[in-house]
Amino acid sequence: MCPHGERLINGEGSLRGAARLICHCLLIEGAEGLVLVDTGFGLDDMANTRQLGLLFDTLFRPQSRAAETAIEQVRALGFQPSDVRHIVATHLDVDHAGGLPDFPDAQVHLLGGELQAATNPSWRERERYPAVHWAHGPKWVEHEVEGDDWLGFESVRILPGSDAEILLVPLIGHTRGHTGVAVKHDGGWLLHCGDAFFHRDEMQTPPSCPPVLKLFQNVNSVENGKRRQNRDRLRELAQRSVGEVELFNSHDPVLLARLQGAAGSPD
Ligand SMILES: [Zn+2]
Repeated sequence: MCPHGERLINGEGSLRGAARLICHCLLIEGAEGLVLVDTGFGLDDMANTRQLGLLFDTLFRPQSRAAETAIEQVRALGFQPSDVRHIVATHLDVDHAGGLPDFPDAQVHLLGGELQAATNPSWRERERYPAVHWAHGPKWVEHEVEGDDWLGFESVRILPGSDAEILLVPLIGHTRGHTGVAVKHDGGWLLHCGDAFFHRDEMQTPPSCPPVLKLFQNVNSVENGKRRQNRDRLRELAQRSVGEVELFNSHDPVLLARLQGAAGSPD
């Protein structure tokens, strides 16, 4: 997405230039097949960005690049889209759930509260949840937390019978059922924080955030008090878990580049 106001959004560059926000998806290869965390925009969205909503399309200016969709990147890695057996949704906002129709056979894991919000939105929520993203009838799998403790956070494991340790870590606030997704790997944990924070400097001490991103988070959160509380808990986690948990979010391009660099991937 390339909204106007680079310096006010990315924190650097020119005032008038186009900012750059990405949709960070995570693909996990395991015994269960492929698991995709968030789906960004889908092929239909790229063919017609207006279906994302007039306001969203105008303000965020999503670029029509089909090659960057999750389905095309899965294919480029040599897999079939049907190899993606499970999708985990941090939440169902327009820029996170657009790829659902590209993987119609996958089970879609999420918190029950998010499905409730997306399928029965209030007037305020209607704009963020275009029903076209689930018109195909996804195989929803709703989860509720049962108090399992993960480094001081409540959590629930989505595939309890499998080797893959993938947990929903509720981070309510941005939406009613927003969740982080923790994934265990050889070197520790990855925590996909979705939209629980937008800029990497929000995890620093003292924290900071470019003004437009700060404003957007304040006005676009369903429960802003909880959102701020969860963001502060994440900052505290980031500080006490250095080397153990790698936190990243959905939209900061620098955090994506950092992880790609760590993985040795060229793109
Ligand atoms: Zn988002």
